Amino acid sequence: MIRIARSLLERIERAAEASYPDECCGLLAGRHGAADDILVTRVAESVNLTGGDARTSFEVDSRVRLNLMKELRGGDDDVVGLYHSHPDHSAEPSARDLDRVFEPDLIWLITAVAQGRAVETRAHVFEPEGPRFRAVALRATAGEGGNGTS
Ligand SMILES: [Zn+2]
Repeated sequence: MIRIARSLLERIERAAEASYPDECCGLLAGRHGAADDILVTRVAESVNLTGGDARTSFEVDSRVRLNLMKELRGGDDDVVGLYHSHPDHSAEPSARDLDRVFEPDLIWLITAVAQGRAVETRAHVFEPEGPRFRAVALRATAGEGGNGTS
């Protein structure tokens, strides 16, 4: 299960709405807990640097990654995933997403946006067999859950 503070999930969903009809994107930091649990403690928003159609593709700014890793240095948290939005599509990963799994350990949060409103966010992990994505439970928890960066 992936746990994320409701406030952080809301930041992702507001970003998804703000960037509509383009995809938003960013990184997730956090830590691994018991069993397969991952706690997301931080959200780092990126501009969408895709060279293609921003309504159907995204590219996280590598400087966001570098800054986030700098902030995490010496702490318990690490980069655990990424998020992006699907304007007027479901929260399921696309074929293009599957083609772009460069770091198989990262979790993927996808927010579906319908006509400018975030309707659903789902979490997925990559499975090399297939290869394919597998849905994992996502639970929004009360509280702040760490600092966000923007
Ligand atoms: Zn996608």
